[in-house]
Amino acid sequence: MSDKKDIHDVVIVGGSLSGLLSGVLFKRRGYNVTILEQFHSDIRKSQAAGIGLTDQVRKLFNSAGVSLDDVGPSMKQVHFYDSVNGKLEIKRVEPYPGVMTGWTILFYRLRAHFDRFITPVCPQRAPNASDYPDEGEGVYKTHAKVTSIEYLKSEKVVLVHYDDLATSTSHTLKTRLLIGADGGNSTIRKLLLPSRPVLRKYAGYMAWRGTLPRNQLSALGKDIYRPGIAPVIANPAVKAYTMTYLIPADDGRFGLDETLVNFVWYDYCSANSPVYVKSMTDVDGKLHRWTLPPGKMDPDAWEAQLGVARKTLPPPLDEMVEKISDRPFITAVSDFIAPECVFHDGHVVLVGEAFCMARPHSGRSTNEAARQALHLVDAVEGKITWRQYRTEIRNCVTLNFYYSRMFGLWTLGGRFAQLWAGLQYWWVGFRIRLSERLFGKVIP
Ligand SMILES: Cc1cc2nc3c(=O)[nH]c(=O)nc-3n(C[C@H](O)[C@H](O)[C@H](O)COP(=O)(O)OP(=O)(O)OC[C@H]3O[C@@H](n4cnc5c(N)ncnc54)[C@H](O)[C@@H]3O)c2cc1C
Repeated sequence: MSDKKDIHDVVIVGGSLSGLLSGVLFKRRGYNVTILEQFHSDIRKSQAAGIGLTDQVRKLFNSAGVSLDDVGPSMKQVHFYDSVNGKLEIKRVEPYPGVMTGWTILFYRLRAHFDRFITPVCPQRAPNASDYPDEGEGVYKTHAKVTSIEYLKSEKVVLVHYDDLATSTSHTLKTRLLIGADGGNSTIRKLLLPSRPVLRKYAGYMAWRGTLPRNQLSALGKDIYRPGIAPVIANPAVKAYTMTYLIPADDGRFGLDETLVNFVWYDYCSANSPVYVKSMTDVDGKLHRWTLPPGKMDPDAWEAQLGVARKTLPPPLDEMVEKISDRPFITAVSDFIAPECVFHDGHVVLVGEAFCMARPHSGRSTNEAARQALHLVDAVEGKITWRQYRTEIRNCVTLNFYYSRMFGLWTLGGRFAQLWAGLQYWWVGFRIRLSERLFGKVIP
């Protein structure tokens, strides 16, 4: 689709989930797409936490001809329990129609469709080129760290400068569309908004995460952690709650005896307190700011957290936490929204966590990245205006952002924080609905 040979249709910075979702869709629509990824290998490991796939991912997969049926077990409902004196009382049930999968499974599924990359870690059939005769080319370059960009207004192209970390050489690509999908610490965002850096703020609580084969649970655990249901167990007395759901094993299988129970335990912990510092300091003595990766946790820190589990978690959870102890990891929960997502007349766009990092409670960040890819193709093809794109994307991420905050603070925050988050969520929803009443839907 390029009018000159040396101009790329689309260059994407960052080859994780958001970059690949956009990459696969643009490629299927006939664009030649190059992904620049700084990591040194095609083989990547998940952080052993699940990923929820809902309506927008399904829409994107349908549109790109990718199957969603075999990436993980389906999910139907979230069950909210209160833990009172060690007993569980169900409070309410909410629908969550989706599929739960693992990061690696989704990553390799998208790679198989993007550049036909197949690995024995997660084997699957590579789609045949003849199945998609009109698609463009997909190139995935590892070792490629983007360092700067330039917009040439007169030519309407973007120059993307990157270092090849394998050969210590520098290169430049020219593109009509640059997609910044380089995550929460986005280089592209920092280059575009030098005077308006985003404030990534610690939420005041940490997420302790891990997985456990479901067949290692007792009968009580198996009864609570069953297919299609995600139990959320709140313990407001100690400002903590857990969420659990089933995901496939690392090799992609998800028969009932093969699934993993994925658990996330949100626990209040004030910033820079001794517990925070101890928990986020790894076995080698390095203090991590946002994520302590699997396998790096100091055994003493985990033992201390197990003590908390024994005192505060109800039976099915404490059993699981005890058994999980091989590979837990921690995230210090944080969030932000960048002030802008479209730059240089639509020639540079930020997507995924480069644009907005919502707290993980709603499980919809991959969904938002899929929505961005779907509308982005339409904006590039002139089916919607850039104003429509910007407004719709901002509305959707902002709603998810405040919904997630409210969800988390419902158990983890004080009364004032809960009220404030609820008001903010209500206000954003009200503003969007009012504007739709007055001016119609942003994208009809
Ligand atoms: C290896 C890996 C494993 C993960 N595992 C899980 C998991 O198990 N569960 C879960 O919930 N979430 C996981 N995540 C996080 C999850 O992908 C994100 O939370 C979310 O899906 C948003 O993804 P993203 O693509 O916007 O950003 P990210 O996933 O953060 O990806 C950003 C990508 O951009 C690359 N990048 C950054 N700067 C540059 C640069 N200057 N030049 C080139 N490339 C650059 C990074 O290496 C990274 O691959 C994982 C992320 C990674 C990278």
